[in-house]
Amino acid sequence: MKMLKERLLVLFFCLFMIVCSIGGVQLTRRISDTAVTVNSEPETTEKYIKWVDFSVPYAALRDTMQLDIDTYGTERHLTWIDTLSYLACKNGGKWSSYKSSQLDGLVEALGDDLLPDDLMKTNEYYRFHKEAFSAVLSGILGEYTKAAPDGNGGVKVVEGYGLKAYSPVAEGFWFSHYDDFGDSRSYGYKRRHLGNDLMGSIGTPIVAVEGGTVEAIGWNRYGGWRIAVRSFDGKRSYYYAHLRRNRPYAEGLEIGSRVKAGQVIGYLGMTGYSTEENVNGMTVPHLHIGMQLVFNEAQKEGTNQIWLDMYALIELLNKNKSSVVKDEESGEYKRVYDVFDASYPDDMRHITTLAPTEITEQ
Ligand SMILES: [Zn+2]
Repeated sequence: MKMLKERLLVLFFCLFMIVCSIGGVQLTRRISDTAVTVNSEPETTEKYIKWVDFSVPYAALRDTMQLDIDTYGTERHLTWIDTLSYLACKNGGKWSSYKSSQLDGLVEALGDDLLPDDLMKTNEYYRFHKEAFSAVLSGILGEYTKAAPDGNGGVKVVEGYGLKAYSPVAEGFWFSHYDDFGDSRSYGYKRRHLGNDLMGSIGTPIVAVEGGTVEAIGWNRYGGWRIAVRSFDGKRSYYYAHLRRNRPYAEGLEIGSRVKAGQVIGYLGMTGYSTEENVNGMTVPHLHIGMQLVFNEAQKEGTNQIWLDMYALIELLNKNKSSVVKDEESGEYKRVYDVFDASYPDDMRHITTLAPTEITEQ
């Protein structure tokens, strides 16, 4: 009898645990619908964001960025991370109904001295959105120092606040794209397309969207000649793939090399889909670009990776393109206007300007 009681107890305990774990999964699913998933595992594990579905449309990025820039340096700086987090909560994480008037409504509701934080003090989703948007966007907008044309054929150094990340495609080179993130891919195994393809011409100079450290370079059977650059704060990794056969990369890059935003890192091509190196396995020349978020190193590899749809971000980055000039002798391209920002290591905070004659020749 005692044995039976014990067995029943064990059975009840098991059933209880199963119900609890299903509850955990449902919580994850429910919250992920609103754009950010929180860790629903037991208290003993470290908590960090497990999933981000970045579906903010271009119009919302454009509007909130402009408001951020317009209010920067005033008594009440309305950052796009705060206003996007507010709008994400108001739209239940679904952005299809976003209109600029929603942002106008927020500004009106804030009056003269409130911040979004004041309105959303007790909202846990707001805090999650803030952490997620901060991870996605903190390398995109901010203070920068850069070289710029002085209007007389020379160069001057300017400090500013605005877009500090660059379009991956250098100025003066065409590309076309559509939102193909999540499309089905079947080479090797069936999977989702975890990036965005930018169609362009072979040899188009590809620049680093954001500064960072090269963490992968060389052949990959899927990406072909590819390079991955990790932002200096470690939160974002940018993956540039299918680079040019024979000369895929800018000179001198290796694992551990540090690059600046807007620096030429490689050339568009059509390599990949081959276990053999240096093979053009793509049918159309294009850059595959991916943006991975890393809240915890456990998310870098394996099944827990977070990749973002960059379509709207790339549209936004069209506003900031890196000018490049060709070295006729080597055939390589170099950036014209150097840049740095506060996120860079100390020894990278300098501007290397080209002689004005080199610039006017392009
Ligand atoms: Zn692709």
